[in-house]
Amino acid sequence: MDFTATPAAPETGVRTVVGACPHDCPDTCSFVTTVQNGVAVKVQGNPHHPQTGGVLCAKVSRYHERTHHPERLLTPLKRVGPKGSGQFEPVSWDAALDDIAARLQAIAARDPRAILPYSYAGTMGLVQGESIAARFFHRLGASWLDRTICASAGAAGLEYTLGTKQGMRVEHFAESRLILIWGSNSVGSNLHFWRHAQEAKRRGARLVCIDPRRSETADKCHEHIALRPGTDAALAYALIHACVQHGWVDHAYLAQHTVGWPQLRERALQWPPARAAEVCGVPVAQIEALARDIGTCFEQRAPVAIRLNYGMQRVRGGGNAVRAVACLPVVLGAWRHRAGGLLLSSSGAFPVQRQVLQRPDLFAASGQAQPRVVNMSTIGDDLLRPTSAEWGPRIEALVVYNSNPVAVAPDSSQVVQGFARDDLFTVVLEHFQTDTADYADYLLPATTQLEHWDVHASYGHTDVLLNRPAIAPVGQARPNTHIFRELARRMGYTDPCFQDDDETLCRQAFGDAVDFDALLRDGFVTLPLPEAPFAQGGFPTPSGKCEFFSERLAAQGLDGLPEVLPNHEAPGSDPRHPLAMISPPARNFLNSTFVNVRSLRDAEGQPLLEIHPQDAVPRGIADGSTVRVFNDRGHYVCAARVTERARPGVVNGLGIWWRKLGLNGTNVNELTSQRLTDLGRAPTFYDCLVEVAPA
Ligand code: SF4
Repeated sequence: MDFTATPAAPETGVRTVVGACPHDCPDTCSFVTTVQNGVAVKVQGNPHHPQTGGVLCAKVSRYHERTHHPERLLTPLKRVGPKGSGQFEPVSWDAALDDIAARLQAIAARDPRAILPYSYAGTMGLVQGESIAARFFHRLGASWLDRTICASAGAAGLEYTLGTKQGMRVEHFAESRLILIWGSNSVGSNLHFWRHAQEAKRRGARLVCIDPRRSETADKCHEHIALRPGTDAALAYALIHACVQHGWVDHAYLAQHTVGWPQLRERALQWPPARAAEVCGVPVAQIEALARDIGTCFEQRAPVAIRLNYGMQRVRGGGNAVRAVACLPVVLGAWRHRAGGLLLSSSGAFPVQRQVLQRPDLFAASGQAQPRVVNMSTIGDDLLRPTSAEWGPRIEALVVYNSNPVAVAPDSSQVVQGFARDDLFTVVLEHFQTDTADYADYLLPATTQLEHWDVHASYGHTDVLLNRPAIAPVGQARPNTHIFRELARRMGYTDPCFQDDDETLCRQAFGDAVDFDALLRDGFVTLPLPEAPFAQGGFPTPSGKCEFFSERLAAQGLDGLPEVLPNHEAPGSDPRHPLAMISPPARNFLNSTFVNVRSLRDAEGQPLLEIHPQDAVPRGIADGSTVRVFNDRGHYVCAARVTERARPGVVNGLGIWWRKLGLNGTNVNELTSQRLTDLGRAPTFYDCLVEVAPA
């Protein structure tokens, strides 16, 4: 799209355009936008895309309202008030980009590592995510961002065990006999998987939900195991223990396709159900009953499947917990059947050409030997770090796109202090004036998914999706790619790769591995993958086998077997803060997206803390009353919902509200810590002790 050309005559008539949902959700739906007179008037699920089945979630079925929202940012803005005040004045694109390029160039002349890009899954698109942006920051020699905030503990757990982030094909869950929905509120956040689980249920499958919270999904399963946060590995070991004791073990599969079975077996024998029940805080009979269900399937050669999700890995031992859970279907030989095994993420199946798209080789032009890597989960501390020999230069400039760290990063009082630094130059690319946008020096209006090209992998199914622009950019909004291309030009980067247009980038994302003509024609392409990925073993680990025992972990001085690790903030370890808190998503929000959409915010009502009656009554907390949730990191004010959705001893702070739309200008991340997981350097949002009192 040429943004300098004379605008075309206003469009008339009605047409439809096939696109893809950009949000951080495993379902990656294909959608069809109806455009009337140049305005998007309807967004519907694509009925021809089997994974979408013509159905979108309530959040995205109103996506056109988000695109044409009255509060959309439509012009570049420059800060005029104090940092964080959210006071801006309009400025031309040329003036904004000239000044940003000059400021970045001046910092880069001293040390480019003082510049940090900060981005995540505000769009899951490969082009508007990390293509020209990555090329730009690599060429500049900026610090590299370690993108850990959501899934890296689980990803590491899978990779050390199975060798890849791959699993069952989601449609095959419909044929499973027993489905463990582990750490997932699928009804709210994995709707299209849930359709397959319901189909399995209609065919006689048993559904078991494993989650500290009695979620809407738990309501609809046959059984709910409300374990304490951070005890999943103990439960997995107890189930393996039962398999060993009862002989529900596929010896042939283990002998051919695994490493470390004798050691895992020994470790599992240390975890009888009674011990795990004590640690998990659930009745031993419940663990034994689940083990029997598993054993019955084993004896009948019926497939057992696990839909694991990321909530359970947001604790100190999250990576090892994923390892322990991933061992269970291997012990059973469940992978032999296409409806058996496990799905945490399918993203490893996609042949994304990241080197081509992101060009890390451009970093060499910066003259540095090694990039500095900054963990996005510790941005609170890192923005406040002074220059030092081991850290390198203080962060002087931050360019934020596809992310809202002031709301979503842990330990937000530290994050806010960092963003409030007067000597920090901050550029934010956004659709709306979020909490992070309030701290920008320049706030640049970005296009939404209806206004730009993109191409998508998925982490919940195995189709590639293309997103075509349905409408022209609204106001002066511009795609991220355009903004970084323009900055590159102003910085004097003449590398031809900065000239690639967005359609070319879409083609480059998968190269010859995906038929781009088919993408243009249908909007999606299904990857040619085996029906049952590990039926014949073939785990892409160094040994070529599933690694119960990991030499790679042992070489790092870690336990080579999956470990049961207590939380950093273990329940009972701090008498002043006796309640464990998790912060699962509110049903109408997706991370911090959609909080400003009035209809969805109204559906949520107000920021909520779910608390069990046994914890509420002694504290004098009534349903609907305002409470103060606090620990040594800060406090958060919200409404109490006294409910058995919370288990005793655990409160659920539903997230993630924008701070400025909360009751006291904070959100639940005021309480979470910057401590990291065992594997993957990920945050520990669900490893958090608090106390609650009437406000
Ligand atoms: S279910 Fe997920 S992928 Fe589908 S429309 Fe909703 S947010 Fe997007």
